[in-house]
Amino acid sequence: MARPSPLEIYALLDKSNCKDCGYDTCMAFATDTLERKVKAQDCIHLMQDPKQAKNREKLIKLLTPPQKPVTIGTGEKAVTIGGEEILMRHQLTFYNQTALFIEIADDDTDLEDIIKYLSDLKIERMGDVLTLNGVALRNVSGDKEQFKLAAKRLTELSNLPVMLCSFNPEVLLAAAEEIKDKKPLLYAVTKDTWEQIGKFAIENNLPVVIASSNLDELMSLSATLQKFGVNEIVLDSGTYFGPGNLSVTYDNIMQLRTAAIDKEDANSCWPVMGVPAVYWSQVKIGNEKELWEHQYQEVIMGAIMGSIDTNLIVLHTGQKKEEIWALLALMTLRQSIFSDPRIYPAVDPGLYKIKEPKSNDPIFITSNYRMTKIPVEQDLQGANINCWLLVVDSEGIGIESAVAGGQFNAGAIAEAVKEFGVFDKVDHRILVIPGMAARLSGALEDEADAFVVVGPRDSSGIPKFMEKQWKPEEFMKEYESWSKD
Ligand code: SF4
Repeated sequence: MARPSPLEIYALLDKSNCKDCGYDTCMAFATDTLERKVKAQDCIHLMQDPKQAKNREKLIKLLTPPQKPVTIGTGEKAVTIGGEEILMRHQLTFYNQTALFIEIADDDTDLEDIIKYLSDLKIERMGDVLTLNGVALRNVSGDKEQFKLAAKRLTELSNLPVMLCSFNPEVLLAAAEEIKDKKPLLYAVTKDTWEQIGKFAIENNLPVVIASSNLDELMSLSATLQKFGVNEIVLDSGTYFGPGNLSVTYDNIMQLRTAAIDKEDANSCWPVMGVPAVYWSQVKIGNEKELWEHQYQEVIMGAIMGSIDTNLIVLHTGQKKEEIWALLALMTLRQSIFSDPRIYPAVDPGLYKIKEPKSNDPIFITSNYRMTKIPVEQDLQGANINCWLLVVDSEGIGIESAVAGGQFNAGAIAEAVKEFGVFDKVDHRILVIPGMAARLSGALEDEADAFVVVGPRDSSGIPKFMEKQWKPEEFMKEYESWSKD
């Protein structure tokens, strides 16, 4: 799908530059709709003026991505999946990351503990907080009352979005009735149950999954449900393990995504999901070693699915604290895949406090490349070092390349020292530069009127540096002796 230009969007707006949306001009608003910072609905004039009804419709159509978004859950934890415009991340960017759901059986005796653990789960990595997106509650008991009870308890204990899983429509809808105000995703509609589940979904404005390993059947059910009035659909073409089956699983997902995004097919225009958790219904667990091997198989399938922007993945491994490795691997991969390739991973330049620095504590210098600043900061925090961290604008480039490319140079560091009033915070004039920038030390001493110490090449060496090399009195004596000359 060709992206509309800001001018095409502007042409459909009110063009009064009234500023009611918070933008100074309609053109600025038009530009930000493309980045999804605002929606067409945020222009009240366009929305409320009957004379602009045609333009309103045209604009909403123009801004709707070929793969429609689907939202599961309510409140701040609600998760939106799909809504993508491109097949490959490098073509633009992906907007909504793969949602990771963990399955729980409704008869699990540890259900409450698992829910609490998953709700609180947070992994901090490179300045981002990585979390789980939802829970898939499976009707393993086969009992309607038990499923209802488990669904209710789940939503009482957690505000994570819920996917209710049962192929028995009576059981599925009984639990859905119980928690319908939490906007659960209903898994799943089949050729035998589409009418009953579809009717409930329409009445309660709920999203549904269509499950079929036959792509023609999947498309036919999608067409039927849309015609029937279902507004939000997720497609599951099946997850298959074993020789030859992996490629079938992969091909089906890619076919659905290609049909939606490149061919703008009206029936495939929905998010796609995968269920690596089905692995456990296909294997028998023998000993402990086999258990680990099976978990790896499941997580590898999750990684393959995540790498091709499968919009929702359901896992079994990851329920327990000792299985955190599985989520750590998948969330880390996801963080990389869903970073915006158009934006340099940079942080704001400035003077950052580490712990409680005093006037005689050191000033470490680093670049504003995100993957440099955050690990340095974490190393300093982890070593309990009270100090200042001066982050210099290197155009978001790491130290070694920025020194070679000239973005991290003596002039830029001296300018940052001045701009952020570094020497007003301390009673010394010592700057510690990274080992990889050693060659800047002479020029920086002149430019910043400072005593420059070359620190370790890697910030993990800072504790040792502090122990063996940090001698502020000696450094200042030397500085004073040559500054008098
Ligand atoms: S509210 Fe609408 S008309 Fe007013 S500036 Fe924003 S986009 Fe333009």
